[in-house]
Amino acid sequence: MDFNEAKKRHEELVKILERYSYEYYVLDNPTVSDEEYDIKMVELENIENEFPELITRNSPTQRIIGQVLTGFSKITHKERMLSLADVFNIDELKEWDEKLCKNLNRKSVEYTVELKIDGLAMSLVYENGELQYCATRGDGLVGEDVTTNVLTIPSIPTHIDIKERVEIRGEIYMPKASFNALNKEKEANGEQLFANARNAAAGSIRNLDSNVARSRKLEGWWYYLQDAENYGIKTHSEALDFIRKLGFNVNPERRVCKNIDEVLAFVDEYTKKRNELDYDIDGIVLKVNDLSLYSEIGYTAKTPKWAVAYKFSPEEVITKLKDIIFTVGRTGKITPNAVLEPARVAGSVVQRATLHNEDFIIEKGLMIGDYVIIRKAGDIIPEVVRPLEERRDGTQIPFEMIHECPDCKQPLKRIEAMHFCLNPYCPSRKIESLIHFASKDAMDIEGMGEKVCEQFFNEHFIDSIEDIYTLSKYRENIINIEGWSYKSIDSLLEAIEKSKSNSLEKLLFGLGIKEVGSKMARSLAKFYGNIDALAAATFDDLIKLSDVGEVCANSIYNYFRDENNLKLLIRLKELGLNMNYLGNTQIDSSNYFYDKKVVLTGTLSSYGRKEATELLENLGAHVSGSVSKMTNIVIYGEEAGSKLDKANKLGVQTMNEEEFLSKLKGE
Ligand code: NAD
Repeated sequence: MDFNEAKKRHEELVKILERYSYEYYVLDNPTVSDEEYDIKMVELENIENEFPELITRNSPTQRIIGQVLTGFSKITHKERMLSLADVFNIDELKEWDEKLCKNLNRKSVEYTVELKIDGLAMSLVYENGELQYCATRGDGLVGEDVTTNVLTIPSIPTHIDIKERVEIRGEIYMPKASFNALNKEKEANGEQLFANARNAAAGSIRNLDSNVARSRKLEGWWYYLQDAENYGIKTHSEALDFIRKLGFNVNPERRVCKNIDEVLAFVDEYTKKRNELDYDIDGIVLKVNDLSLYSEIGYTAKTPKWAVAYKFSPEEVITKLKDIIFTVGRTGKITPNAVLEPARVAGSVVQRATLHNEDFIIEKGLMIGDYVIIRKAGDIIPEVVRPLEERRDGTQIPFEMIHECPDCKQPLKRIEAMHFCLNPYCPSRKIESLIHFASKDAMDIEGMGEKVCEQFFNEHFIDSIEDIYTLSKYRENIINIEGWSYKSIDSLLEAIEKSKSNSLEKLLFGLGIKEVGSKMARSLAKFYGNIDALAAATFDDLIKLSDVGEVCANSIYNYFRDENNLKLLIRLKELGLNMNYLGNTQIDSSNYFYDKKVVLTGTLSSYGRKEATELLENLGAHVSGSVSKMTNIVIYGEEAGSKLDKANKLGVQTMNEEEFLSKLKGE
C-alpha cells in the first residue's frame, strides 16, 4: 500500500470506527459484531504502524471513544479510566508476556488473572465512608454521573469502613438470565431486542428513568482499587481481597499465576468453562501482580502496559459473502471459493473459505451478498455453515456455476461432483504444478513460493518442472525484475541445486501423480527404493501394498505408461535429480514411538503438524487423524479439542508437548 492509498483507507476506517462506536456506546445498539470492530481497529493500527505520520490525537487508536450522554451530569475522573490493550490469540499473548519479561529483565512475571466481564466500566467513589457518586468511564477523562441508576443494584455498598477517599472500579453487567428474560419480554411487546447483555446493561444504566435500571436486575463485579499502595497493599491480588472484605463483590474466578504457562492453563480452563457461567465474559485479563512495578512498566495514552486482555474469538461468526470466485488446481479441478468480509474466528482472521463444488453451494442455498455463518472445521479450515436467509434484502445475486475455465477459457467437464479444466496447457494448471513441485512437502525449494513461480512463469523463464533446473540461464534477466538481487537469485539457484539430492519420496510427491499424497509417496519410495522399480511395477504389484487401493494403483500405473511423463523423468535424471530413496530403511525399533498408533491434536509450539507427523513416521509410528480404541497415544498441544476428550473417555494414553519432547530425546 502506498502512502496515498493508506491515507484514504485510514480516513475511511476512522469514519467507520467512529460510526460503530456511536452505535455501540451512545445508542447501545451495535450494527456489527465486536470482532468486526476489532478487525477494523487492528487494520487501522497496522496502517498507523506503517505510516506513523497518519496518527492524530483523535485517532480511535489513540483515545477511548466512549461518549458522555447529555441528560446526566458530568464527572471528571481524578485518575483517567483507561481501556485495555487486546491480544487475539495465544501466540500474541505469549509475545506480550515475553516482551514484558524482557523489558523488566526477568524470566517470568507473576500475574493476577481474572475474567473479562462483558459489561460497562464503573467507578464508585466513597468519602467519609459514604458513597459519593457512581460514574461511567465516558471518554476516560469525563464520565456520566449515574449514581441513581447504579444504586438500584442492591449488592453495591453505600457505606464502607474507611474514612479517606476510596475509589473502586469494576464492571456492571446483566446476568444471562436477566438478559434472556428482558429480550423475551421485548419480543412479546414487539420491541427491538438488545444485541447482547453488555448493551442491555449499558442501556439500562444510562436510562434517565431509574425504574428501568431497577427492573433490569443488574449486578457488578469489582476489580480495581485506586491507589491501593495507600493501604499498605503490595499486590493486585491483595487489593482484590481487601475490597472483598470491604463488602464488594469480587469475582471468585481469579488466580495468581506465577508465569505465563500458568496463565495459559487458566485461559484454557475458562475458554471451556465460559458457557457455564451465568454472565457473559469476552476474554481473560492479565494484570501484573506486583504493584510496585506499575510505574516502571508505564501507560500508553489509552491503556496501562501492565495489563492486557486476551479476547476470546467466537467459534461461529456472521459475516458477508462478498463474492464467489473460482480457482484452477494443478489437476485442473475448479474450486469455487467464498470471498468473505474479514471476520475473526477461533483465533485468526478469515477472508476466504472453500465452497468445494457446485452441489455444495446449491445444497447450502448460498447467494452472493448473503450474510453467512462461518466457523472453523476442526479448528483449522474455515467453512461456510449456512446463509442467513432472514437477512436478505433483495440485493443478493443467485449463484451460477461457470462453464469455461476462468483462465484458459476452455469448456469445463463435470466428473462426478467436480468440474475440471482438461487443458494440460492451461496456464493456471501449470503454475499450480510448479508451486506444488517447489513446496515444502515436495522438493522444498526455499524461495520458490507462489509469487515467484507465477512471476517466472509469466516471464517465460519456466514453463514446466524441468525448466526449474535450467533457471540459471535467466540469471541476468531475473536481475531486471524489481525486488531481485544477485544475492537472492543465487540463494534460490542454490536451493534448486540442493533439491536435486532430495530423497525419492519428495520427487514422487512433487510430480503430482493423482492419488499420491506425501504419505503415499513415502510408502512407495520406501518399498520400491528407486523410481525405475516403481515405474516397472504392474497394477497387481501395486495393489498388493497395504495402503494402495484400486484407484490409486491405476493412477500410478498409468502415470508411468504416459510418454510425456516418461520423457519428463528422463530429462530430470539427465539434469541430475536423485531418484533413489535415501531415508532410513532400518528404523531403530527400540524407540518409544516405534509401531505405535499415534494421533496428534491441538497446536504444538515446537513442531508444525506436518513436521511432527514426519518425525513420528520416521520413527516407525503410524500417525492417524482419528482416535479409536486402537490408538496407542494421543499427543496434544494448545487448544486441543474433542480428540483429547475422546482419548480420555476411551482411556487412551495422552501425552502433552513436554512429555512428547522428552520421549523424542529418549528420556
Ligand atoms: P475492552 O472492552 O476491549 O476492554 C477494556 C474494558 O474491559 C475495561 O474498560 C473494563 O470495562 C473491562 N473489563 C472487564 N473485566 C475486566 C477486568 N477483570 N479487569 C479490567 N477490566 C475489565 O475495551 P473498551 O475500550 O471498553 O471497548 C472496546 C471494545 O468494545 C472493542 O474492542 C469492541 O470489542 C467493543 N466495541 C464494539 C463495537 C461494535 O460496534 N460492535 C463498537 C465499539 C466497541
